[in-house]
Amino acid sequence: MAKRDYYEILGINKSATAEEIKKAYRKVAIQYHPDKNPDNKEAEEKFKEAAEAYEVLSDTNKRAQYDRFGHSRGNGGFGGGHTMDMEDIFSQFGDIFGGGGSPFDSFFGGGGGRRRQRKGSNLRIKLKLSLEEIANGAEKKIKVNRLVHAEGVTFKTCTACQGTGQMRKVVNTMLGQMVSTTTCSQCNGSGQLIDKRPSGVDSSGLISKEEVISIKIPAGVSDGMQLSMSGKGNEAPGGGVAGDLLILIEEQEDKVLKRDGNNLIYDLYISFIDAALGTAVEVPSITGKVKIKIDPGTQSGKILRLRGKGIKDINGYETGDQLIYINVWTPKKLSSEEKAILENLRHSANFTPHPDASDKGFFEKMKEFFH
Ligand SMILES: [Zn+2]
Repeated sequence: MAKRDYYEILGINKSATAEEIKKAYRKVAIQYHPDKNPDNKEAEEKFKEAAEAYEVLSDTNKRAQYDRFGHSRGNGGFGGGHTMDMEDIFSQFGDIFGGGGSPFDSFFGGGGGRRRQRKGSNLRIKLKLSLEEIANGAEKKIKVNRLVHAEGVTFKTCTACQGTGQMRKVVNTMLGQMVSTTTCSQCNGSGQLIDKRPSGVDSSGLISKEEVISIKIPAGVSDGMQLSMSGKGNEAPGGGVAGDLLILIEEQEDKVLKRDGNNLIYDLYISFIDAALGTAVEVPSITGKVKIKIDPGTQSGKILRLRGKGIKDINGYETGDQLIYINVWTPKKLSSEEKAILENLRHSANFTPHPDASDKGFFEKMKEFFH
């Protein structure tokens, strides 16, 4: 689905000042706030869309990039794939409406309607992948230790907030004076405190448990990339949403095929006899052995391209190529018989280098292949 223009979403023009952006966002956020539009998917989408627009336009750098490149900035762009979740949006409100937390709860809900749910903490793991797994995508089963709700825990109502999970106070905001509800610090918003817990269970009623999680890795990931599985992190104390499992990709270097972006590079060594006479050789590729033809008179440094034999781009439909660098290998040891043969050839005109325009040097070849 095509993304709408951020300026259009907030109803402002391109020259809007920071203050105008903030004002416009405040208006849209109030209009589509979920508390005001319960169970309205369209309003929720508009609310998220506005938050994303504000996130970009309120940041000078991101705004400048957006003005130059629009939504099409590479690598997922500003929002591509990343949509802000409600927690992110609400945390942004401190900045918009002043004061801590969100005055919205009481502003719209009349108080007590919506309880801020705590999110469980995120879990982070590193995942080593071979080149083959990266090229084809992989499904990995990983053992993780998650904090989950323990059995046999008994609760009592929180005395600080009487079980509401919220503390109320009057604050002055840009929208005037209003009652702000903040999360109860005693029970962290759950409204309950732990009464009795079995050994091994922490003070929030969670226990560490080993679980096997199946992770689908899409083809084309690269070293340092982080994938996220929502809800597979630690469970939330008091019953909120579980955190996310964050998976940091570590790419194992392949001994044979070197990765350069989505291209794979293979160094092929051939004898100068094969280079002179031409031959056919088998080279490894990500999909198995491939037979390639070496033309007679092939120069060292020539690059052959196997189209589409590289890595599939994670963001698109394009696939990289395999580049074969041809290295003509010079013998390091010769028998006296071999020496004699080569001595005979030494002064042959055909063995004297005389490169013509078709024998491009290294830089010319690099330019050809990367442009
Ligand atoms: Zn409480």
